[in-house]
Amino acid sequence: MTVDFTSTRRKDRRDEQPDSTPASMQAELLALQEAASIESARHEFIADFRWPEGVRVAVNFTCDYDAMLLRRVFEEPALQLAKGEFGGRVGALRLVKLFDKHDVKATFFVPGRICELYPASLRAMVASGHELADHMWEHQTPVAHRFQVDHIEKTAEALSRFTGHRPRGTRSFYPNALLRQAGHVYNSHGSASLMPYYTGDADGGHALVELPFHFAIDDAQFFTFGWIGSAPEAQHLSDPERVLELWWDAFMCQYERGGYLNICLHPYVSGRAMRIAMLDELILRIKKLDGVWFPTCETVARYCLDRFPPRKLRT
Ligand SMILES: [Zn+2]
Repeated sequence: MTVDFTSTRRKDRRDEQPDSTPASMQAELLALQEAASIESARHEFIADFRWPEGVRVAVNFTCDYDAMLLRRVFEEPALQLAKGEFGGRVGALRLVKLFDKHDVKATFFVPGRICELYPASLRAMVASGHELADHMWEHQTPVAHRFQVDHIEKTAEALSRFTGHRPRGTRSFYPNALLRQAGHVYNSHGSASLMPYYTGDADGGHALVELPFHFAIDDAQFFTFGWIGSAPEAQHLSDPERVLELWWDAFMCQYERGGYLNICLHPYVSGRAMRIAMLDELILRIKKLDGVWFPTCETVARYCLDRFPPRKLRT
């Protein structure tokens, strides 16, 4: 999963006294319009997008190999670390086995430090033809420029020791310029469209393909307890059958419109036996339909850049 930690730690706005005079509201509206204009200039959607001949929909399985690093970021108690360990040592390999059974090529977003912790799992992913992509060094994007560069490089080096090449994509909040300079061609943490699109810097440079995902297609939202320090009344453990039907419906919506689906999984969440069984059933159902493509994120990103390069933004 990806979380912009600067925003999640922001002071709760309900604690602040609102200033609702007409002048302040007008100033706030102008600030919002300016922010919307800047964001709009950074985005480019692909109006005439089409998949390759014979493909009706692309499904990216994107697995965030957070393991115990995410537990540490949230300063969770020791027992919670165990679920990260399970994902690192057992869940990840179960997902690889599931994908291999169905000839699905997945993308594993890997924090660099994970390479030190679970090398056997990473070797299995690479041996099966899955993609390893950047997911920060310790699952955090530092603020200082020199640390950002350091973390991008350390993670690229760590991943390349397994793959033989630098990673081509990321799930992170680094500036586009740094990612492009490091050789990345795509990111996958946005939700501004249902289809692949482009993002750039504020001045329109350093375009990256964005492969959007949504928290509604993220296993952690349905199958985790204590999610980001949530209170007991906010716990949410769903039956796999319910999630199967929700995701099947989401898939069919995309199938009917010739769309795109990015299914975000975590080995410590979906690596549990009953959830692997649910995913097995979901993939079996999907595979009964014609025209479904299960590529890696890099393959989709290369396709976008080759066939529909950005027109407004600059790479
Ligand atoms: Zn993550």
